[in-house]
Amino acid sequence: MDNVTEKEVVSKNFIEQIIEKDLEEGYCSQVKTRFPPEPNGYLHIGHAKSILLNYGLAKKYQGQFNLRFDDTNPTKEKTEFVESIMEDIKWLGADWEDRLFFASDYFEEMYEAAVKLIKKGKAFVCDLSAEEIREYRGTLTEPGKNSPYRDRSVEENLQLFENMKNGAYQDGEKVLRAKIDMSSPNINMRDPVIYRVAHMFHHNTKDTWCIYPMYDFAHPIEDAIEHITHSICTLEFEDHRPLYDWVVRELGYPNPPKQIEFAKLFLTNVVTGKRYIKKLVEDGIVDGWDDPRLVSISALRRRGFTKEAIQNFVELVGVSKANSSVDYAMLEYCIREDLKLKAPRMMAVLDPIKLVIDNYPENQSELVEAANNQENEEMGRRMVPFGRELYIEREDFMEEPPKKYFRLFPGNEVRLMHAYFVTCTGCEKDENGNVTVVHCTYDPETKCGSGFTGRKVKGTIHWVPALKAVEAEVRLYENIVDEEKGKLNEDGALNLNPNSLTVLKKCYLEPALAKAEKLDKFQFVRNGYFCVDSKDSMEGRLVFNRIVSLKSSFKL
Ligand code: ATP
Ligand code: MG
Repeated sequence: MDNVTEKEVVSKNFIEQIIEKDLEEGYCSQVKTRFPPEPNGYLHIGHAKSILLNYGLAKKYQGQFNLRFDDTNPTKEKTEFVESIMEDIKWLGADWEDRLFFASDYFEEMYEAAVKLIKKGKAFVCDLSAEEIREYRGTLTEPGKNSPYRDRSVEENLQLFENMKNGAYQDGEKVLRAKIDMSSPNINMRDPVIYRVAHMFHHNTKDTWCIYPMYDFAHPIEDAIEHITHSICTLEFEDHRPLYDWVVRELGYPNPPKQIEFAKLFLTNVVTGKRYIKKLVEDGIVDGWDDPRLVSISALRRRGFTKEAIQNFVELVGVSKANSSVDYAMLEYCIREDLKLKAPRMMAVLDPIKLVIDNYPENQSELVEAANNQENEEMGRRMVPFGRELYIEREDFMEEPPKKYFRLFPGNEVRLMHAYFVTCTGCEKDENGNVTVVHCTYDPETKCGSGFTGRKVKGTIHWVPALKAVEAEVRLYENIVDEEKGKLNEDGALNLNPNSLTVLKKCYLEPALAKAEKLDKFQFVRNGYFCVDSKDSMEGRLVFNRIVSLKSSFKL
């Protein structure tokens, strides 16, 4: 976690410093930022960082935040993704108000911009193939060579570009290139392609266009049209900044936007990067883009993460110029902190075994009182039915315990949480020697809250009443990749953790949980924080996801 220091958390980040200087010096009077997703997949935790950063800056400086779909590449884009992206951004709490834009709405302006460059002698139509263009481009150590088509006249270029637009050529037959400098030390400046022929259907403009602008040309124009002041992007675009500046300068935009780069957010032991997530989805390794083992925003939401936890996490990580990976445990820390005082603390038995209290009268039952959250009295109290037969965790009984085992074993006394002290008297087993029922007796004088102040016991275990328990499926998760063993295998495929999902089909919960609704979150005492699954859970067949265990390996 080398990019989180206390200093960074409290002091202004480098982008805020730039913005404050720009406001002071009059470079702009109002800050305008944007989030420009390409609608070719679902958003992930890295995008959340970008969204909250851009939105947060606009808000902090009383500016505006735009949502703009960067839909200039029709091959991989889908309306499904547009909808999920909007839902995720709203859920995160970023508000674009009425400023929802599509880059494809600017295709006409981009075309006009290209014509303007041609007229200025700053762009030319080139007939080289993609491969030839690559060969002519040179390398980091060698300059490139001019294209033989570089000196076409303005008139010829205008005509050919119009022909491109009118569908006269096949894909790849001709491109429009900026005329900059084939010997520039920056390869991005060596006459980059700015328009290509692509006979493709576009989800927004349909069949109107058969030429499409390249990202490096389109993006600065989009920003300039929307009067973005600070175009914040990730570090891989740093080398593209001279081209960004060239485009807005040559096109003569007044008050051109300024590109600022920051480091991408990476997390250990999970998969960020749309490309990888998409592959897991397409290969059927996960149950869709919202599989709770993923860190897409929809997956985090389904798993039970709250927007507050994600906001805090992003805040803690801070903004930096150096790439590094953040420990996944830090995200877990943030959700635990958020749910600590918010989530009701309930009893749920994940690996049940029956406990019979032999001296508790048959056909008797009673209610015991439990605090909903011991650390937050405001959450009130509830009554839990108690009776002669209960379920407890299988691991809370041992016939022959090791030292320092303070739970049930023959002769030992423990407290049943919110209820009585019980002393273990033995167990029943099946023909294979597996324990099937544990027996005990209780001391009626020890009811919690009855004023009993006598003996002390070392162990407290949780339970649910056997007759009234609610059955549920519980899903436990581990990280999807095991980074200690390497993120990738030798063949370049992801090194997946085979234990990333454990399904417990028959768990027993306190009766109050029967009414739990999708996405409700609870602490199951001793077992962690859990959330009702939003996809598979239904009345009569509850499914819970473990968000996070209670134990933490992370300290702030
Ligand atoms: P991926 O690499 O996951 O495919 P992308 O960069 O291709 O993501 P876009 O839709 O093009 O996805 O990104 C929208 C915005 O989100 C861009 O400004 C991009 O820089 C930013 N972004 C993408 N990934 C991260 C990340 N890991 N951390 C911070 N910002 C990110
Ligand atoms: Mg992209």
